[in-house]
Amino acid sequence: MPSPVICWFRQDLRLHDNPAWSAACKTGAQVIPLYILDDKNSAQWKMGSSSRVWLHHSLEMLNKSLEGNLVMMSGDAKTILSELAEKSHSDKIFWNRCYEPWRSSRDKDIKEKLTSKNIKIDHFNGSLLWEPWEIKKQDGTPYRVFTPYFRKGCLGAPPPRPPIPCPPLPSFHRNIKSKSLDELNLLPKHPSWDIPMISYWKVGEQAAHKQLDRFLETKLDGYKEKRNYPSLDQTSKLSPHLHFGEISPHQVWHRSTEYGIKSSAGPDLDCFQSELAWREFSYSLLHYNPDLPEKPLNKKFEQFDWVAPDNETLERWQKGETGYPIVDAGMRELWATGYMHNRVRMITASFLIKDLRYHWRIGEDWFWDTLVDANLANNAASWQWVAGCGADAAPYFRIFNPTTQGEKFDPENEYINKWAPDSHKIKPLVDHKKAREKALEAFKAIK
Ligand SMILES: Cc1cc2nc3c(=O)[nH]c(=O)nc-3n(C[C@H](O)[C@H](O)[C@H](O)COP(=O)(O)OP(=O)(O)OC[C@H]3O[C@@H](n4cnc5c(N)ncnc54)[C@H](O)[C@@H]3O)c2cc1C
Repeated sequence: MPSPVICWFRQDLRLHDNPAWSAACKTGAQVIPLYILDDKNSAQWKMGSSSRVWLHHSLEMLNKSLEGNLVMMSGDAKTILSELAEKSHSDKIFWNRCYEPWRSSRDKDIKEKLTSKNIKIDHFNGSLLWEPWEIKKQDGTPYRVFTPYFRKGCLGAPPPRPPIPCPPLPSFHRNIKSKSLDELNLLPKHPSWDIPMISYWKVGEQAAHKQLDRFLETKLDGYKEKRNYPSLDQTSKLSPHLHFGEISPHQVWHRSTEYGIKSSAGPDLDCFQSELAWREFSYSLLHYNPDLPEKPLNKKFEQFDWVAPDNETLERWQKGETGYPIVDAGMRELWATGYMHNRVRMITASFLIKDLRYHWRIGEDWFWDTLVDANLANNAASWQWVAGCGADAAPYFRIFNPTTQGEKFDPENEYINKWAPDSHKIKPLVDHKKAREKALEAFKAIK
């Protein structure tokens, strides 16, 4: 009997198009499918509250697909893997690569430690269409501007590989003690906000594919134009599924290509795939700038005159009580569902950064805790983009007017009436015109 092998699931909670899972099954050995909740190495970037709720349900679905054989543990992945390999006499571990700096450096340590004990580590790309180190400018430096990154870099590189079929379930190595899902303590102690929040979603691999199909059949047509209007609900809402790897970007890329060709959805398909490429671009930025979540890419912004946050003001932004209806609707959508429409993410972020002049990291932290799709690369790159200090960023002096943005993108007040019908009765937290002038003054000082 060959030694058992371990397949370590991380941000790839699926069985189809999962290169590590396929390789583990192909060995013909008994497999230990493993998930480790590692709050130790993640340090300040440990998963936020809404992500944990999503993870709970996603692990439940993955475990069902594995007929209850998923081994769940929590703690320091370095120690856990080493002890598990020793106890089970496993001589091979498979995983798909992660790109967050804390994960890459932890995985490098694990690889070194286990390789020295004659345990073979095989890792794969399961999460990105193009590896960050594959897409570089001709002079070998990374792209800082999105359009050439996508049009020249990505589209000029070999196309994303086609999805890998799901292998039949292997035989499992069963003598490992697993925690129960509840013992991972991912849900709030007393069931409360998590129940209504998760009721907006269907979690898991199967649900992700249904969501993609629904999007292609009913929303791809017109996506380019209508994606900006929050009340139309015209986007895919695949972000949490992509983040947790319930569906791979390869599956989304290829299925949308097939569908787009069949239905002649040219510009809509191109626009949708370019959004997928923004995700890739964010990962590339994070790869080349590991301090992206903490430090501005444009170093001038280290001198920016941010306002010291005042709890009451911050809470009014968080709770959606600013008196600016589109901002309030967005913040309340986020609180209720763990999601906010992209256009409104930009408006609410701009309000925090430019109207309140609060540091973008304060907003980044709030989104980190409340989004079900909270993703270190996308979140950090997007907050820096809005702040004007990131790559290919909106210039700081382009300041969204929350009133006209609302009029333009929610002309019939449908989105506002759904989430914040009372907002117009609230005394506005700031006068936008005055706030804008102050923000421009502060910007001039660092120019
Ligand atoms: C301040 C701010 C914070 C954000 N934080 C996150 C975050 O933590 N996690 C996250 O996934 N996205 C984040 N985004 C990007 C974007 O808002 C979401 O990806 C998008 O709203 C998800 O909805 P969807 O799946 O319906 O998108 P669709 O329009 O259907 O796009 C398809 C997919 O492309 C990717 N994508 C789309 N827009 C972007 C973008 N601007 N940047 C990177 N990838 C993109 C997502 O994976 C998305 O699922 C943030 C944007 C802003 C302005």
